[in-house]
Amino acid sequence: MNAYDSDRILDLIKKNNYVPTNDIKEADCYILNTCHIREKATDKVYHEVGRVKKEFRDKKKPIVLITGCVAQAEGEVLLQKEKYIDGVIGPQSYHEINKVISNLEIKDERINETEFETIAKFDQLDLVHNTNDDISSFLTIQEGCDKFCKFCVVPYTRGPEYSRSPLQIISEAKQLVENGCKEIILLGQNVNAYNFKNKKLSDLLYSLSEIKDLQRIRYTTSHPKDFTEDLIEVHGKCKKLMPLLHLPVQSGSTKILKSMNRNHTVEEYLEVINKLKAKNPSIKFSSDFIIAYPGETENDFDKSLKLMKQVEYINSYSFIFSARPGTPAANLGKIQLEIAKERLSIFQKVADKIKSNYRNGLINSYVKVLFENKARSENKYFGRDEHFNSVIVNSNEDLSGMIKTVQINSCNHNTLFGEVVLNDKPKEYAA
Ligand code: SAM
Ligand code: SF4
Repeated sequence: MNAYDSDRILDLIKKNNYVPTNDIKEADCYILNTCHIREKATDKVYHEVGRVKKEFRDKKKPIVLITGCVAQAEGEVLLQKEKYIDGVIGPQSYHEINKVISNLEIKDERINETEFETIAKFDQLDLVHNTNDDISSFLTIQEGCDKFCKFCVVPYTRGPEYSRSPLQIISEAKQLVENGCKEIILLGQNVNAYNFKNKKLSDLLYSLSEIKDLQRIRYTTSHPKDFTEDLIEVHGKCKKLMPLLHLPVQSGSTKILKSMNRNHTVEEYLEVINKLKAKNPSIKFSSDFIIAYPGETENDFDKSLKLMKQVEYINSYSFIFSARPGTPAANLGKIQLEIAKERLSIFQKVADKIKSNYRNGLINSYVKVLFENKARSENKYFGRDEHFNSVIVNSNEDLSGMIKTVQINSCNHNTLFGEVVLNDKPKEYAA
């Protein structure tokens, strides 16, 4: 979502005659868009600002703005501790960025814009053309969270759940498609909690799939609790909806899920997975796990390992629990770092093994790839298959924006390598 926000900030500030530069020394304004989800976020801000300070040691300083969730959570402290920062702007008030910059251009008055003005933000963004022309583009449809998992800062930094109107979303999707986009990834902290006057995510997916030149749709991140029957149904019906679902579980132990306030059991989570598989047998899953959450015993940890093996996630993101200031879990007794590190290492080894078995199993099979751009080396093109695996092929033809059948012939941990099938009549796609 920060990538989407950064692009939208660039669209906004163009109106103030600012354009992006690749050379930091040329900048009149320096904007650092930040994430607060895990530790060290604030340290990184001071570090980056220190870098800018060094670059501008002998020159007039640029306007320095910190945007995003660190600004929201720690804006006042940042302003107090680092005088080089001119303003902090939270994720729900960045539509005010031009006003902030204009004020700073004329007077030296440091600014804190951290109100939750989500409706005003999207109304304002709606007036600014989305100029992103990536083949695969993000589109935020929902923001904020009312779930209050005990470890998480999002409800405090992004504010309460808010859904944009379908009209705004479809109009922005059409802009993106006109710019050349072929795949849209719908975004939300709880994307499947989307609800605008009883229009749900399922309704939105059907409407978006009617946009003619839009070839693929994905959405992230879902909460298991919000997986309603209508949404499960779309996975069997909507051909443009890709069969890879990121469905974070956090832990394989119902006891830990309860203490995290996740509001579902492991059994209920598996029920959602099974229903989705029944609707679309080719669907695969990725997930997030928190390792060594306070109170996690060896037995609870084993249950996370068991779940990982049972679902066979083709990708998973695992992190040691990070105590976030202001969240309820920050006051719980932490598990010793040594133990946490050991569990993370065991967990990631198992996750890697599952991933590499899956990838090796794809060798010689056929996958459909949407090509996004030229890879760094000459005559190589990068794209993603339906399960969001990165694929690289050799080609003399510019494949950007095309969907081609590719036969996979090798892989490494992150990428599949293959050849475009010329007559495009594969015998069997990888399920
Ligand atoms: N809303 C999504 C959900 O409920 O699954 C997750 C959104 S959160 C922004 C992304 C991921 O960051 C979470 O799934 C979780 O695994 C991880 N995360 C959040 N807070 C964390 C913390 N305090 N320590 C470690 N990982 C954390
Ligand atoms: Fe954070 Fe997701 Fe829980 Fe909301 S549902 S509090 S975003 S982890």
